Amino acid sequence: MTETDIRARLVEHAASLFARGYSVGSAGNISARVRDGFIITPTNSSLGRLDPARLSRLDESFNHIGGDKPSKEVFMHRAFYRARPDAMAVVHLHSTMATAVACLKDVDAENPIPALTPYFVMRVGRRMPVVPYYRPGDAAMEPAIHAAALNARAVLLANHGPVVSGATLSDAVYAAEELEEASKLFLLLRGASPRLLTPAQVDDLLRTFG
Ligand SMILES: [Zn+2]
Repeated sequence: MTETDIRARLVEHAASLFARGYSVGSAGNISARVRDGFIITPTNSSLGRLDPARLSRLDESFNHIGGDKPSKEVFMHRAFYRARPDAMAVVHLHSTMATAVACLKDVDAENPIPALTPYFVMRVGRRMPVVPYYRPGDAAMEPAIHAAALNARAVLLANHGPVVSGATLSDAVYAAEELEEASKLFLLLRGASPRLLTPAQVDDLLRTFG
């Protein structure tokens, strides 16, 4: 896929996420790996109204070399790309249900959402840790995200929202959507005793689709 195609696809996915309420105002940012660098949504931009020609262009070292000024949260994307050479795209949202889970204190910080459905396991993987809370702009957040992303395709930033990577732009977007659905199920089932997928069923899924 050419950079022009990736820019167009990113704008399409962003508008779709915005239209369905996955992001509001100027929240959320999306990036993709392209030849010799990255593209990312600009700072203060709405995912609903992006211009493909004005997306921020970064070089391989994440220096801004074209387009509008990049999102202030570009370091989250950098942490993921550096931890996961296989990641071709990163999606960060403040989507309601996943952020609600990120605000719960009595969950397993190593893996707050259990294996409720095969689709979550197939899209997000075996585990999705919670990265502790950091004030927006705190430089300590990047190494914390990097460490968590070494062993996970997605993380939840405590009291903030999800960061999700994928082998393609569409994969990352679909994983972020599946994470939102899994979060909704998890919240609906709090206090109930759902039947979880067994470790053997999870292994089978990851062997087949992982
Ligand atoms: Zn954010």
